[in-house]
Amino acid sequence: MVAFQRYHLTIFLLLVFLIGCAKVPLTGRRQLSLVPESELTSLSFSQYDELIAQSTLSDDPQKVAMLQRVGQRVAAAAEQYMKDNGMGDELKYYEWEFNLIKADSIINAFCMPGGKVAFYTGILPVTQDEAGVAVVMGHEVAHAIANHGGERMSQMLLAQLGGVGLQIALQEKPQQTQQLAMAAYGVGAQVGILLPYSRTHESEADKIGLIFSSMAGYDPRAAIPFWERMGELGGARPPEFLSTHPNPEKRVDQLQEWMPEALRYYEESSKAGRQ
Ligand SMILES: [Zn+2]
Repeated sequence: MVAFQRYHLTIFLLLVFLIGCAKVPLTGRRQLSLVPESELTSLSFSQYDELIAQSTLSDDPQKVAMLQRVGQRVAAAAEQYMKDNGMGDELKYYEWEFNLIKADSIINAFCMPGGKVAFYTGILPVTQDEAGVAVVMGHEVAHAIANHGGERMSQMLLAQLGGVGLQIALQEKPQQTQQLAMAAYGVGAQVGILLPYSRTHESEADKIGLIFSSMAGYDPRAAIPFWERMGELGGARPPEFLSTHPNPEKRVDQLQEWMPEALRYYEESSKAGRQ
């Protein structure tokens, strides 16, 4: 009987991985993806709306306009990239939005699933200029496009609910799956905000982000001094951004490695008049 159940569980887990696997754009890595995108985005949208409603937005029109400009250009580049590589459909639930939250002490920025972006004013002294903002924008948008939030949530669901629980969860109605997903998180309002990314996710977001910001016409070389400045901020109590984006000092070598490829995209964007 035990062996029989184990056999069924193995078959079930195999099925989960067959139906629940996706491929990360650009890197081609296979990832676990159990939460349907329609549900992930509706969860993300409601959490984002709640966060924005509770926040004070920046009243500096120049900074707000700059953030919107960078956001729209990077989003357009991301959509172009996905379209060019036959993955345009993966962004069908996206509703891009870019807000600048007034909080000078919070050094943070994020893009939630479905393209909901927020920057806190506290990160602007670290980004310094528009190219620096583009580095962070590219990186955060890349986390969303690569579905890192959905992957983390899927891993948690699998770990916490196990095979049988997950089978039930997947058969339930969308709303109940959402509630289970929320339960897996422990507390709500965390999609892509508080959950630390793994080293694989960070490295992927760096690479994909570098390509997106270059395609958008921003100099990718700005990424290296940005992460160096971010690394210098680390200390006994690192800022929010560093707690969800670990090891800034480890990424510079990799960024150097990807720079020639990024610069080719940057030069193409210059020919297309996007700079
Ligand atoms: Zn990151």
